[in-house]
Amino acid sequence: MRSLYAGEPFDTSTPEIATALEDVSIPTLLLSLVHITGDPRFIRDFKQMGIFLNEVQGFMSEEDKARARAEALSVITEYRDRGCPEPAPLSPELIREMMDWAACEHVPDDYLALVSEELDLDGVDPRRPTALAPERAGDLPVVVVGCGESGILAGIRLRQANIPFTIVEKNAGPGGTWWENSYPGARVDVANHFYCYSFEPNNDWTHFFAEQYELQDYFTKVMAKHDLSEHVRWNTEVLAADWDDDDGMWTVSLRGADGHSDTVRARAIITAVGQLNRPNIPEFDGANTFEGPSFHSAAWDHSVDLTGKRVALIGAGASGFQIAPAIADTVEHLTVFQRTAQWMFPNPMYHDEVGDGVRWAMRHLPCYGRWYRFLVLWPGSDKGLDAAEGDPNYADSDHAVSDINAAAQMMFSQWITSQVGDDPNSAELLAKVMPDYPACGKRTLQDNGSWLQTLQRDNVELVRTPIREITARGVVTDDGASHDADVIVYATGFRHTDVLWPLKVTGRNGIDLRDMWGTRPYAYLGITVPDFPNFFIVYGPGTHLAHGGSLIFQSELQMRYVDQCLQRLAEADIHSVEPRPEAATDWHQRTQTQIKKMVWSHPAVKHSYFKNADGEIHTVSPWRLNEYWAAIREPDWSQFVVRHRSS
Ligand code: NAP
Repeated sequence: MRSLYAGEPFDTSTPEIATALEDVSIPTLLLSLVHITGDPRFIRDFKQMGIFLNEVQGFMSEEDKARARAEALSVITEYRDRGCPEPAPLSPELIREMMDWAACEHVPDDYLALVSEELDLDGVDPRRPTALAPERAGDLPVVVVGCGESGILAGIRLRQANIPFTIVEKNAGPGGTWWENSYPGARVDVANHFYCYSFEPNNDWTHFFAEQYELQDYFTKVMAKHDLSEHVRWNTEVLAADWDDDDGMWTVSLRGADGHSDTVRARAIITAVGQLNRPNIPEFDGANTFEGPSFHSAAWDHSVDLTGKRVALIGAGASGFQIAPAIADTVEHLTVFQRTAQWMFPNPMYHDEVGDGVRWAMRHLPCYGRWYRFLVLWPGSDKGLDAAEGDPNYADSDHAVSDINAAAQMMFSQWITSQVGDDPNSAELLAKVMPDYPACGKRTLQDNGSWLQTLQRDNVELVRTPIREITARGVVTDDGASHDADVIVYATGFRHTDVLWPLKVTGRNGIDLRDMWGTRPYAYLGITVPDFPNFFIVYGPGTHLAHGGSLIFQSELQMRYVDQCLQRLAEADIHSVEPRPEAATDWHQRTQTQIKKMVWSHPAVKHSYFKNADGEIHTVSPWRLNEYWAAIREPDWSQFVVRHRSS
């Protein structure tokens, strides 16, 4: 069978190919030519000049790009005329050279195994679990809580492992975040050729940063392809889970949309509920007295027509940044209340459509999509961590935490100034939108100009004065000004630090997980918790990404780890697995030590959804891709308590 990433054979005409080549990423094209021909000259003859943001054109000269297209046209037409035979595998040395060339730097050796696995050029899906024999798997019913990105992944992997499972989802359909967040302008801010399962690439994304409906459609299609629907209980919420140590089973309490209660029993639970799911609506005085409609960004009321209305948008993080530009044209007046100014990354491609040429290349050119994924992943992951990590010897630590961080700050502030202007007329807005804390201190947003241009419209006002109260007519700020509104939208984020809330989980000896955690949630490797046997968290404490990367990547690694724990549980006579308390404490302490070095902990970052009430951060991962990959590549059973039924 033809390998998954060899590309579909084609008979596209030469002029159509030439047109497609005008659209494609030249570095990615050249890497694909190496696959087609086996000839490394396509990378050796062309120099890339970028070290960052290089994924699309590599900062090549126009002459080089034209030369690359001309050479590609002849190679690709000749390949077509030969009937598009499956390319021969390349040597590991050549693939390594291609990685370095694509990254515009030497990819450190300790990333090689991870990148090779993620690239999966052979199309074997190396994270796929081993299928258990039915007599072993049958005794291992698993409940998965949530059917978003990580719950669907859990379902796919459990099905592949032959393990019986039920996914319980509170919504009527799949996608989680991408089911619920249907607000105007909702789109992913991680490039979605990376923000998709490594084993389910999508050649047909219409945007580089897809809109919500397309992501929801993607997850629906992946679910259908993997035949998961019969395993899901829709419109059903998991309220509680109680561990029974005698029989080594969880009792999971459910409530349907009609209020009907039920329980199911399971040997293991996988929570896949995300950390950005339960809306946070601040308790402003008088909020209940507001006479118009009001709703949270994640529960958008589409029955409310905003045409000609005065809208108060409270909160301007990732969601508010997308909502304001999307509704400014429609509303009569938009007042945006922003407590803290946000740093933003200049991203001209943010709203761009994927051209037909790129989609043709994704579908037909060998490994084009794979290398494009790498070109997005590499600059978009640990480079962000470099900019977030503090240098203890950095002198100007009030304003930045390292040279790289200061360079990021310079780039971001130049972008903001270029959008707003630095003449006297712009001074007021510039002061409002320029953050007063180090770059990357909060999750950096993406901007192609739409946010800052929106703020300059005549019908849009940015208010930075704190909110005092909400009245029947609108929002009153601390300076006494009344901002009348017909509709209030709360883009005020999620209860991120309340990990797993409102799920009530009771472990051994009646220990309540939330009581045990208090304001400091922790889990061994972010996945398992002492005294909570056979309990696995995907996207648990200490695994949120504040600096870049993709949560789908994190979920895939975590799910592989969970699969291996389940394989152990499926062994005859095993009652339960749970981490040793010292293992969990040690991991938590090491993570805390690292987090304290990061810019997110900087005291100038007064408000951030990562910080708990004490200003501590327990939800975010400070680890590099390769560090976390290596840590959870497979369970270290010396760090676990493995109980036998007979003991
Ligand atoms: P967020 O980043 O937490 O932003 C919430 C906004 O509400 C901030 O402006 C915050 O101000 C404000 N706020 C919260 N409590 C407040 C209070 N008591 N008084 C006044 N203002 C208050 O939430 P989000 O925009 O929903 O985004 C959350 C995360 O979801 C993102 O970081 C991202 O990971 C994810 N997300 C992703 C996308 C995407 O991929 N496109 C889109 C949306 C969300 P402060 O800044 O002062 O706290």
